[in-house]
Amino acid sequence: MHEFGPPEVLRYEDVPDPVVGRGEVLLRVRSVSVNRTHCLRVRGGEYFPGLPFPHVLGVDPAGTVEAVGDGVHVWKRGDRVVVHHAIACGACEACRAGEGEYCDRQRQIGIHRWGGYAEYVSVPAQNVHPVPEGLTFPEATVVVRHAPLAFALARRAELRAGEWALVMGAAGALGGFVVQVAKLVGAHVIAAASSDERAAAARECGADIAVNYRAEDLLEAVLRVTEGRGVDVVFENVGDRALWPKSFGSLGFRGRLVTAGAHAGGRVELDLGRLYHRLQRIIASPRSSLADIERTLAESRAGRIRSVRIDRVLPLAEAAVGHRLLQERQVIGKVVLEPPAP
Ligand SMILES: [Zn+2]
Repeated sequence: MHEFGPPEVLRYEDVPDPVVGRGEVLLRVRSVSVNRTHCLRVRGGEYFPGLPFPHVLGVDPAGTVEAVGDGVHVWKRGDRVVVHHAIACGACEACRAGEGEYCDRQRQIGIHRWGGYAEYVSVPAQNVHPVPEGLTFPEATVVVRHAPLAFALARRAELRAGEWALVMGAAGALGGFVVQVAKLVGAHVIAAASSDERAAAARECGADIAVNYRAEDLLEAVLRVTEGRGVDVVFENVGDRALWPKSFGSLGFRGRLVTAGAHAGGRVELDLGRLYHRLQRIIASPRSSLADIERTLAESRAGRIRSVRIDRVLPLAEAAVGHRLLQERQVIGKVVLEPPAP
């Protein structure tokens, strides 16, 4: 990218190979995914308007280790690895306390430094994790991109076995992993999606019930299923003004609503009276911890967490096509980009 703008500002061109610095790993990229906030909104200049150019997007590359910098002993050439994008500063109070997820100086691969829309990318060794056995590179990209946050959301919401959960945007990539994690915890899951096809995708992830809220009243459906009690946890990663009364209204007594996204705008009307009378909580959880990443790797090795649907895999040269498909909501699940094979 040399400028902000529509998908066509993504140019496929040659740049010098990245240099691998001390404490870094040089990756030969095999897959990277297209993300709404971290790719589309960055490209449009909405998410990080101060971004210096030229810039290379790509928060979640997976591939093989090509070289390691000084001080890196864990990885060797040829290892199959996947990158998690968050770089904690390592120096602030939260980082020193071992809580990097609360670092207020957190930086991100693909935003604060060049990312994985490339044949090669250099990343800090702390961001590199092994590809779980049995996963393809595209699957590893998708799983490590979204599942840690799903675990973080369930953790912050204190979701327990036997509870009822409502997952908004359940056909989205994050939503699909939230459904899986909620089932893993032992909760009952109602998935909400905007079409029958999207509801089917949520059911594929294990949802007990999937509601197409364009065809059926979501609140009525939730109250019917929960015998009038409402759900214990709402995973609300949509933030749609019109839909909010249905999702917030679905929250039962002592319910927790947890959010890590606002693709539909995020400005909603909150009924504080309802919130305090019913002893409810609203929790923000935009980040995952190292423990959430490790849990993701372990559960996917065990086959208990699987990739959400990958709608299509495109050559890296067609990144702009991938951006347009996601922007125009023509895909269900993920779009993955692949650089030319080595
Ligand atoms: Zn920090």
